Amino acid sequence: MENERVVIVGAGEAGIGAALALRALGFSGSVRLFGKESEDPYHRPPLSKAFLDGTETEDGMRSARAEDFTALDLSVSLSTPVISIDRERRTVSTAAEEVEYDHLILATGADNRRMPGSDIDGVLGLRTIADARLLREALSTRRRLVIIGAGFLGLEVASVAADRGLEVEVVEAAQTPMGGKVSSSTTQAIEHYLRSRGISFSLGSGVAEFLQEDGILTGVRLADGRVIETDSLLSSIGVVPNVELAREAGLTVDNGIVVDDRLRSVDDPRISVIGDVASFPGGGGRLRVESVANALDQAFSVANRLIGQDAPYRSVPWFWSIYGPHRLELVGIAVDIDEVIVHGDPLNYDYAAYCFHDGELVRFESLNRPREHMKMRRAFERGPLPSPSDISEPGYSLTDWKLAPTS
Ligand code: FAD
Repeated sequence: MENERVVIVGAGEAGIGAALALRALGFSGSVRLFGKESEDPYHRPPLSKAFLDGTETEDGMRSARAEDFTALDLSVSLSTPVISIDRERRTVSTAAEEVEYDHLILATGADNRRMPGSDIDGVLGLRTIADARLLREALSTRRRLVIIGAGFLGLEVASVAADRGLEVEVVEAAQTPMGGKVSSSTTQAIEHYLRSRGISFSLGSGVAEFLQEDGILTGVRLADGRVIETDSLLSSIGVVPNVELAREAGLTVDNGIVVDDRLRSVDDPRISVIGDVASFPGGGGRLRVESVANALDQAFSVANRLIGQDAPYRSVPWFWSIYGPHRLELVGIAVDIDEVIVHGDPLNYDYAAYCFHDGELVRFESLNRPREHMKMRRAFERGPLPSPSDISEPGYSLTDWKLAPTS
């Protein structure tokens, strides 16, 4: 292991997670990590939450610092994009050097999908800390904010912006917020809360064009011809995985870089892929999950394999999102949900939604029930999971649900 050389591309949650996990697990070879961004590595979730509302500092969001790299003997080059991979010679190249690897970890993440007009002054996106600084500035200087896209991220920003006193309108092409990715209880609860904060919604509305005068945003024209005047706009219509490097190296790409159940490229066992960019087997097909927990679990799994503990990657995705005082938590995947049993009251912001596929619990969504969320994460890991009839029994309580002993 001492002579093994691991190269990691991407200094986001997954790349940094892999470097730290390798050392935590006792990997004694060399670790070289390349990151494209110039900033010290940071966590992204606060960018749409505590950093945006001013309760988190930039320093508090750092995921690792130069002194950690020195202490752990990690060689980290920021502001250094990897521009190519030579799989035959097992090297990666930057503009300045060529570096050999025994094992390569691709953790290149994703970038925002952009709409035409994204360069107009007043049109913003949110992926990086640089984006978040601009958005935070806009929240203190602009009067209105139109958000295109009612996903988790757009709605989190809507909530903060409304609290900061902006008039906020969310425009969404689908008929419901959150893109049908959650149960109707969750959609109902979050939409109800956001409307109560004065946020308005244009649902089922496509965008025709952004309007400008002398390069400065004045509004947005919807597909039905309606014009919404605004001096700022957040485009939040999802991400595209960063696959170009892999594609050029001949790796199979299909909504992410395609990996096997060990998170190895299906074309090259010396290349592992983790985080937002990985398309891995799961849920009866392929999954690409955009969450911190997924990035860190996959980083840990690959680090374990590289120190000789080979096992298939099995982890249940979980995610959280914050709207004012309300914390939404989700565990499991949303494959063809055909039955939902709700305990509690979504409109009172206190509920748990058990989501089933063919009688099997596949997803658990809860608002402001952190203990139940934690219990359910353990149930997904260890079993057993409650069935619809268990949950419908009078006296059923998740708190009292008996989990299998740990193996
Ligand atoms: P990324 O974070 O995208 O990092 C990849 C890095 O690789 C980037 O820095 C990129 O510049 C770099 N890179 C790309 N190509 C190269 C190259 N050729 N050479 C070198 N470097 C390269 N998840 C949650 O679970 N909960 C939340 O509440 C939550 N909130 C979020 C809020 C915001 C505003 C955003 C943007 C995301 C949020 N997420 C949340 C999602 C979560 O942050 C991502 O799933 C996670 O960051 C993915 O980590 P990653 O390392 O795979 O990718």
